[in-house]
Amino acid sequence: MSIALRCRCGQLRGQVDSRRVAARAVCYCKDCQAYGHFLGTGVLDPAGGTEVAATLPAAVRFEAGLEHLACMSLGPKGLYRWYAGCCRTPIGNTPRDPRTSYVGLVRACLDASDAQLDQELGPLRCRVETQSATAPVQSSGLNTVRAVCKIGWMLVKARLGGGYRENPFFRSGTAEPVKEVQVLSLEQRKALTR
Ligand SMILES: [Zn+2]
Ligand SMILES: [Zn+2]
Repeated sequence: MSIALRCRCGQLRGQVDSRRVAARAVCYCKDCQAYGHFLGTGVLDPAGGTEVAATLPAAVRFEAGLEHLACMSLGPKGLYRWYAGCCRTPIGNTPRDPRTSYVGLVRACLDASDAQLDQELGPLRCRVETQSATAPVQSSGLNTVRAVCKIGWMLVKARLGGGYRENPFFRSGTAEPVKEVQVLSLEQRKALTR
C-alpha cells in the first residue's frame, strides 16, 4: 500500500510505502516549532506540534515537481529539513548522515485523511518533547507516555538505520544532499523563536 505525497499546491508529488512507516508521533520541540515559523503560518498545530511519520528514505519516491524540493537547516549541525519551495509545505526531516536511514515525513504532505492514516499506519499515540508545547496536550498518563514515547521514538529511528543505498534526498552513494542547503545563521535561528 502506498500513501500519496503532495505539497499544498500540488506541484511536488510522490508516494510513500505505508508498510515501511515505523511509527507516528507529534513533536513539540523548539526546533520543529522554529521550522514551522520559517515556513509560515498554518504549519504547526494549535499546541505548536508537528506530526511526523517515521520511515526509511528508500520508502519515499518523488514523481513530479522535484525541482521544487528545497532544503534548509536551523544551524550548521541541524537536521536537514526538506520542504516544497513552491508553497512552503513541509515534506520531511532527515539526518545529515544518510547512513542513518531515517526520514520523518511531515503530516502536511501526506495526501490522506486522518481516518486513512489511522487505518494504514495505526493510531497516533506518541507525543514527544511535550514540555515545549505551547498549549496543554493530551494529558492522560502523560509522564509515562512521554517517557515511553521518547525511548520508543529513539528505537524506531535506530531500527530504521541500515539499507541506506536508496535515498531520494541524497546524491546516490554520497552524503551530499540533492539540493543546496540553506543553513540559518544564529541570528536567523533566534528570530524564529517565539
Ligand atoms: Zn507546492
Ligand atoms: Zn521536533
